[in-house]
Amino acid sequence: MAEEMTYVNSDGLRLDGRKVDELREIKITPSVLSRAEGSCYMEWGQNKVLVGVYGPREALPQHIQDPTKALVSFIYRMATFSVSERKNPRPGRREIEISKVCGEALEAAIFLERFPNTTIDIYTHIFDSNAGTRVTALAAAAVALADAGIPMKDMVSSCAVGRAGGNIVLDLNKYEEDAPDAVDMPMAIMPRKKEVVLLQMDGLMEKKQWFEAFNLGVQGCMSVYEMQKDALKKRYLEIEKDAMQEIEKAGAKMDKAAKEGEPQ
Ligand code: UDP
Repeated sequence: MAEEMTYVNSDGLRLDGRKVDELREIKITPSVLSRAEGSCYMEWGQNKVLVGVYGPREALPQHIQDPTKALVSFIYRMATFSVSERKNPRPGRREIEISKVCGEALEAAIFLERFPNTTIDIYTHIFDSNAGTRVTALAAAAVALADAGIPMKDMVSSCAVGRAGGNIVLDLNKYEEDAPDAVDMPMAIMPRKKEVVLLQMDGLMEKKQWFEAFNLGVQGCMSVYEMQKDALKKRYLEIEKDAMQEIEKAGAKMDKAAKEGEPQ
């Protein structure tokens, strides 16, 4: 019989040194693309994602337009080199499904009715991966939407939770996702409204364990929410600083011009 793997040691640490309720390191950088209305580059452990938001812009061809609201198009794509074995560049069933569920999660948060006949296009590209790419793409896309100034009812914050080797663990890595008894549960919430906008589950769990996992997942999403807010606040402080510098420069120029125009 195959030897049973240990995913959490006697000190309560996982194979990558994390505690069971610990997220991988997350770095969020908004406003990285000049041509996009909003953008975000995010690293979540080994996962690396770039997101560009375009619109709201006229939905074309015209017959797809909805006079009552904006359409949301969410594209999730993995680069051929983002996985251990070259990925076929053609979007597969998995990418189409992830695009659909993530788009629907964000639709719940956007004030769509304010932009009739338009489309909001969200492109998310994965450059490196180690499980949890859909929740990385979703969290980064929510930051990019805020960066684009698109009015939202709430942020969308995401993370995955599940089971490996009998333990309920937050933010599974690929090794944990491949455990024989693995359960992977990607989820996303609107943190202030306390609404679940994405909940998927791969594998089976008893009800008690499911609630334990779900509560841990909510806790993970709330931590991601804090990081999303911090990244956006930092960005707005930078914008404010740049604007103040521009105003000061313009003021100095006007003072100089006024002095030069003064009678001697
Ligand atoms: N993966 C892969 N090839 C693929 C799709 C996924 O090697 O075609 C890897 C990738 O590292 C991904 C992980 O499997 O992060 C888990 O994929 P899953 O479908 O569970 O989605 P994710 O956890 O990334 O949202």
